[in-house]
Amino acid sequence: MFARIVISSVLSLAAAAGTLAAAQPSAIAQTAAVAAPAPLPLPPPKPAMSEQEKEKTLTAKQLFGAVQLPSIGKAVAIGFYHRGCLAAGVEFPVNGPTWQVMRLSRNRNWGHPSLIHFLEKFAPAAAKATGWKGILVGDLAQPRGGPSPSDHASHQTGLDVDIWFMPMPDRELTKEERDTISAINLVSDDWKSLNPQTWTPQHVAFIKTAAERPEVQRVLVNAAIKKELCRIEAKKPHAWMAKVRPWYGHHDHIHVRLFCPAGSANCQAQEPVKAEDGCSAKELDPWFSDKRLRPQISKPPPPTKPPKPMMLADLPPACKTVLEAPAKNTSLANDKR
Ligand SMILES: [Zn+2]
Repeated sequence: MFARIVISSVLSLAAAAGTLAAAQPSAIAQTAAVAAPAPLPLPPPKPAMSEQEKEKTLTAKQLFGAVQLPSIGKAVAIGFYHRGCLAAGVEFPVNGPTWQVMRLSRNRNWGHPSLIHFLEKFAPAAAKATGWKGILVGDLAQPRGGPSPSDHASHQTGLDVDIWFMPMPDRELTKEERDTISAINLVSDDWKSLNPQTWTPQHVAFIKTAAERPEVQRVLVNAAIKKELCRIEAKKPHAWMAKVRPWYGHHDHIHVRLFCPAGSANCQAQEPVKAEDGCSAKELDPWFSDKRLRPQISKPPPPTKPPKPMMLADLPPACKTVLEAPAKNTSLANDKR
């Protein structure tokens, strides 16, 4: 503290001398002779961290989370949904005829072109099937994919998207509203059944429209929603149900995951969903055990030992190239910030 006071008073003295000198050139010699002390050496500026140092000390989510724009080149999904990245991500427009993107401040409306095409087709199809004005789209991926600062484990390769269980309103939401409005929870307070106040037949049509698309690998929903779908669809042909799988945290949105697209040789496929509809007691009952019910609200139970943070070296080597590549400038990129 003392040293700081000394330095700052020396600095203000020097500044005062400077002002005086500028105002009265004739006083320079006098002032300099009497008052100007030898300037104290300031501490050298901290050298900027080199790229190599950054990659060793910062976690992958810090590195990828800090990048605002996609890399140049051809769009490629690299690695696995939970451990990968995205080259040359494409920005999904924040407004469309049948969609609005939420949480703009997160800058996660980037995806592989196959995901952008999926959304462009799904949005009007879902609007038609439900009678809604359109859909509300949550997170896709960061501009270069990779792990993100929030708790999403997946969404890393530009092939995952969250879509809210509520209709797009009749007007354009403001940026503030998009950051603060919450999605509707379709599940009851005890997490064992659906909330009749929020669950509607339109939600069945919404989920089915997503699962029926051929490019969709799986659709994740809360277990109580899956159970209700099993009940409603039991007597109808329902091959699409095999793709709808229960998972934690999906009480207010669906998570749609696409297959690895053509041209992404390093994209790692997830094991296919089982052919059966996933409605057996053996599949469903464990989701309603005490152990699973509580954490189902948001996320899987925490591991006993916290996992080591993912570093750049833990991702496929091509992700380092993606991270370091020059930025692709896009015309859309600025209108949400
Ligand atoms: Zn998701």
